[in-house]
Amino acid sequence: MMPSPHIFFVQPVLPEKLKPLRDLAASLYWPRYPETAALFRDLDPDLWEETGHNSELLLRLLPAARLTAVAGDPQYTGRLEQVWQQYRTYLGAPVNRGNLPGLESNQVIAYFSAEFGLSEALPIYAGGLGFLAGDHLKSASDLGLPLVGVGLLYREGYFRQRLDRRGQQREVYSRNDFYQLPLELERRADGSPLEVQVNFPDPDRQVRARVWRARVGRLNLYLLDSDCPGNLEADRLITDRLYGGDLEKRIQQEILLGIGGVRALAALGINATIFHLNEGHSAFLGLERIRQLQARYGLDLASARELATCSNIFTTHTPVPAGIDVFPPYLMDKYFTEYYQSLGLSRHEFLALGRQDPNNQQEPFNMAVLALRLSAWANGVSQLHGQTARRMWQVIWPGVPVAEIPIGAITNGVHTTSWVGEKMAALYDRYLGTAWREDPASPASWAGVAGIPARELWQVHEEQRRELLAFARRRLAAQLREWGAGPREIAALEGVLDPGALTIGFARRFAAYKRPALLLRNPERLARILGDSRRPVQIIYAGKAHPRDEEGKELIRQITAFTREEAFRGRLIFLEDYGLQVARHLVQGVDLWLGNPRRPLEASSTSGMKAVLNGALHASTLDGWWAEAWTPDTGWAIGSGAVYEDTGYQDAVEGEALYNLLEKEIVPLFYERDAGGLPAAWVEMMKRSIRAYGPVFNTHRMVAEYSRQFYEPAAHLYQRLQAGNQERLKELAGWRSRVRDWWPAVRIEGVEDDREGDLIVGGSLKVRARVFLGSLQPEDVTVELYYGPVDAGGEIVTGEKETMIQYQDQGEGRYLYSGVIPCRRGGRQGYNLRVLPRHADQVHPYQSGLILWG
Ligand SMILES: *Cc1c(COP(=O)(O)O)cnc(C)c1O
Repeated sequence: MMPSPHIFFVQPVLPEKLKPLRDLAASLYWPRYPETAALFRDLDPDLWEETGHNSELLLRLLPAARLTAVAGDPQYTGRLEQVWQQYRTYLGAPVNRGNLPGLESNQVIAYFSAEFGLSEALPIYAGGLGFLAGDHLKSASDLGLPLVGVGLLYREGYFRQRLDRRGQQREVYSRNDFYQLPLELERRADGSPLEVQVNFPDPDRQVRARVWRARVGRLNLYLLDSDCPGNLEADRLITDRLYGGDLEKRIQQEILLGIGGVRALAALGINATIFHLNEGHSAFLGLERIRQLQARYGLDLASARELATCSNIFTTHTPVPAGIDVFPPYLMDKYFTEYYQSLGLSRHEFLALGRQDPNNQQEPFNMAVLALRLSAWANGVSQLHGQTARRMWQVIWPGVPVAEIPIGAITNGVHTTSWVGEKMAALYDRYLGTAWREDPASPASWAGVAGIPARELWQVHEEQRRELLAFARRRLAAQLREWGAGPREIAALEGVLDPGALTIGFARRFAAYKRPALLLRNPERLARILGDSRRPVQIIYAGKAHPRDEEGKELIRQITAFTREEAFRGRLIFLEDYGLQVARHLVQGVDLWLGNPRRPLEASSTSGMKAVLNGALHASTLDGWWAEAWTPDTGWAIGSGAVYEDTGYQDAVEGEALYNLLEKEIVPLFYERDAGGLPAAWVEMMKRSIRAYGPVFNTHRMVAEYSRQFYEPAAHLYQRLQAGNQERLKELAGWRSRVRDWWPAVRIEGVEDDREGDLIVGGSLKVRARVFLGSLQPEDVTVELYYGPVDAGGEIVTGEKETMIQYQDQGEGRYLYSGVIPCRRGGRQGYNLRVLPRHADQVHPYQSGLILWG
């Protein structure tokens, strides 16, 4: 066998005039990225496609003669010069730390995610979670937030989908060569690769990971890769696939992401103080932060935990328990025994961090529970999902009413300029100026949509639709060639898809709750809708099923079976390999974007947001973002938003609603044409939809909300607790442990009110109470009246609260309190008393998990 070769690198030599291409190739994003991509594409359109839009690789593969020729083309070098100037201006623009006045210049927000969807050139994403993370970074760059991303660099990323003639999905993994990606290896001063290590047991070993840096506009994304020399062969494979492997592989990946990621930041000298967990995969970072804070500042466990928790933010995306990673206790023992001992935790205390019921020894270790217990700030990703998450996690805060569970909601968005098609973007530039690019979260930026001439908007939309149809035919042709089809079969594709027909897009992961086959419940009825020769309709499906999701794969087979039936031929098609490229063409070209998830299982969904930005109209069940976005004059709701016990019945009701909408509303509106052939009412609705949703469902708005609600207050609190010699921190930790110790003695000893018969609306009820606080002081607690209408079961449904005033100290730890309940509504009402711990430096009163009702 040949020994491994000695490796050396050859950098392409660029003519002087093309030098800026080097830096532009290394940048995965900046606001004028489409113009940059066009510059690379024009160097060699075929090679651009072949390299999967990888500009770094393209530059290496281009023959020198081609580069010399381009360098002599003044038109090209002029374009390059202009883009280069704009890029430098973007990088040099002042960073807007005004958003975070409490953050010192060396403080940083670290955003952790298992996947990032930034560009097809860096395939380390599977779907929605990754695109959300990518768009978060892009908007953070535009807004000038001091943020870094942290993730894993996978050798094979996620699979590419191939379908055989029967619609059977095959997963194809292709290997990333990191040296051909727009990545920079982080090195030490002596030039050797920077490495971080984590410990694995059995056999006792150090697992190393290298750190790669990707440039995302003004920000850096750091990616860990365990495929380094010196690691055991098995450990080199930890980062081989995104979400790949068995449970043990998962825990290894998550240890590397959470613990290795925190170590990487330290090794890079980045003083991150705010940590944002995009889903629970990275939750081990909470433990490593505690360990680091202990070591760095000589803190005890309680103080370090307090400091880490007050500056961790957890965003949950999962409305069902089955979607969360859980690890059996034996795996936790295997990987964490030494670790929790070094933190100063007992096995019971450690496992309790990941258990809903800390005392249930059988319960596995749940990453979302760990994230919730170690993050004082938490949110769901739409208003409806916030409600779902509060119900789902009520068990973590026993005794706290569901509405007060400390999980908020920040609705997802998409990065505007990354998803709007080139032609539509040019139209917006003409009529809206640059405001929609620079300040998309302001309604004023989109007001100009009203003034776009209807005919022009329609024309541009139709051009984008034609581009989609051409793309779809190319993809279908490639698929047929792969299947060994002859020229006649391929030529027949010319007749597939009608350039003027109402075009519906349905593209998403094929999971049962998304109900991809809902529209096919009644094939005859669907055939009538699609086949109407005066008002034709066509549907483009796309989507991958998780490799182990047999139900999802079966759904793909079912839909592709319909595409082969005579009644649907050319009108119903399935594009393989739903990914960034397919998604972009679809959201930019369809007339109608369709979603029909089973409420409340879709936490947010973002594909519809991408489509409406491009002028598509949206029809969906009232789930995720659509539950808060929909209004009758901007889109369509399928069904009433009810939640059903009987899912078969739900499918019947909502399937029927979908057919009715298509037949009675959507198709007629689309084909209601004026004398010039313009669907005037449809175009008016497009305008209303763009104006309503454009300013709201974008990541500029979303990141600003994260900043205001979480990053800023967390940064301030962190700073306050750290000030001086961490006096406030130690005081807070000492207070919490004192309150824990004395809480069992606290009692509500007597309650009386001044009621005589019924009260009247506008009146009030005065309540007095005697509370025994024992060794606690009145300033350690809040005593509240919790009141509101009661249901048939005698429980307060949605309560309000009034703080009671302590007005007498009776000695020996007894205090008298009084408070007043205003009677604002008639009916059967009730009240309770409750005592909660109070401290100026806690994020919320439920942080200790203590609440006493009386
Ligand atoms: C936007 C996007 C998603 C997320 O879509 P959902 O609306 O959550 O289904 C998934 N995959 C791709 C390729 C996307 O572009």
